[in-house]
Amino acid sequence: MTLHTKNSWEQRDMESVFHGFTDLETLKRNGPVVLTHGEGIHVFDVHGKKYMDANSGLWNNVAGFNHQGLIDALCQQARRFPGYHSFFGRIGDTTVALSEKLIQLSPFSSGKVYYTNSGSEANDTVVKMLWMLHRRNGQPQRRKIITRVNAYHGVTVATASMTGKAYNAEFGLPLPGFLHADCPHYWRFGQAGESERDFSRRLSRNLEEMIIKEGPDTIAGMFCEPVQGAGGVIPPAEGYFEDIRPILRKYGIPLIADEVITGFGRTGELWGSEKYNVQPDAIVASKCITAGYFPMGAVIIGGDLCDALTRVSEAAEEFPHGFTAGGNPLGSAVALKALEVLETEGLLDNVRSLSPHFMDGLKRLAQHKHAGEARGVGFMGAVELVADKATKLPLDGKLQISERIANKALEKGLICRPLGQAIVLGPPFIMTKGQMGEMFDILDDTMTEVFADVGL
Ligand SMILES: *Cc1c(COP(=O)(O)O)cnc(C)c1O
Repeated sequence: MTLHTKNSWEQRDMESVFHGFTDLETLKRNGPVVLTHGEGIHVFDVHGKKYMDANSGLWNNVAGFNHQGLIDALCQQARRFPGYHSFFGRIGDTTVALSEKLIQLSPFSSGKVYYTNSGSEANDTVVKMLWMLHRRNGQPQRRKIITRVNAYHGVTVATASMTGKAYNAEFGLPLPGFLHADCPHYWRFGQAGESERDFSRRLSRNLEEMIIKEGPDTIAGMFCEPVQGAGGVIPPAEGYFEDIRPILRKYGIPLIADEVITGFGRTGELWGSEKYNVQPDAIVASKCITAGYFPMGAVIIGGDLCDALTRVSEAAEEFPHGFTAGGNPLGSAVALKALEVLETEGLLDNVRSLSPHFMDGLKRLAQHKHAGEARGVGFMGAVELVADKATKLPLDGKLQISERIANKALEKGLICRPLGQAIVLGPPFIMTKGQMGEMFDILDDTMTEVFADVGL
């Protein structure tokens, strides 16, 4: 391979880039994939090798990698007004137009939008909003944040604390006051003989017990992904949100929907909150808000919460928080265009119409002897690999089965994502039925080969 030749892009990467969320053993062995450009749902590396990206980049490049309309929107805005901030009551006109559009598309009848550069920053922002709100309302002790095991809410100090993954122990996180309720994954955590509906009820009882034990007036808010994404694509168990919603209302605990993955069509509905009847007080969006063409995060604050926040901010003179590049006009222009593309170019329709086909493909993969559950919704899905289908016993972690499958698929020109012992797929919304068939054929063959390689 060209990998270790001096001055290859791979070598230059390895000597100059510090990669996060990257298995460094694999990186040393196989090298990075250095890309030059993309066409539709494919990307090309520096050697001209073509890969189908079954994960839309990181869930976000939903309109493909060279959408001319998006590129033009970005370029036009760049020529007119490429950058401005939103402090001191100033803002670019395009960002105002985007805000109106986001509120109009949101499940809220009124509200306002707060801009950041990423999903982590947006979640972090909501934590500060809630802390300020409760403090100003005479409840300074109301600071605890509830999320769930296997949640992913980002990487800042607060959002890593909210993320329910063991790796954050590397940083001595979570910080105190960040609580993790049960993960709503019925297949994995349901008890023998327990129905899915009863499972949801049990989880909601556990949640109420947690709230009572901690003290209801110490809880600032609860954050939920409508479908847990980086936790391995976990749609909520049946009735889950219907069960927890009244409990949160009862104790005056705001519910924030982290729609960084599920927002803008991934589940087949515009919002995961619609799909699963979440009824949030605010929505956090990022990832495909700009179809991956510009960094942007947004908090869409529903009317009631927004009024309350406005009141306390006025009392304090301001909401003392902001990101220099938040609400950048370039991002706003491309986001406006991305929302138009989603609606007018049939992207959402494509997710809806091909979703059953996508689910069938996942089920086909789950027929492998060492595949347990096939799960998903819309255009997000996973196949969980197991040692034993009946007992759901996981495979030996040392096998690194999902990494092996992903690495072998990469050799065959398919980018998919190993997550724990699952293979996760999140195709671009423009994927055709033919391409979807090709994706599942490659994965099917890859799984057969890898299982044979490791003697399973
Ligand atoms: C990716 C993600 C985030 C973090 O977004 P960044 O832009 O990477 O900071 C937060 N929440 C969810 C659900 C995500 O998938």
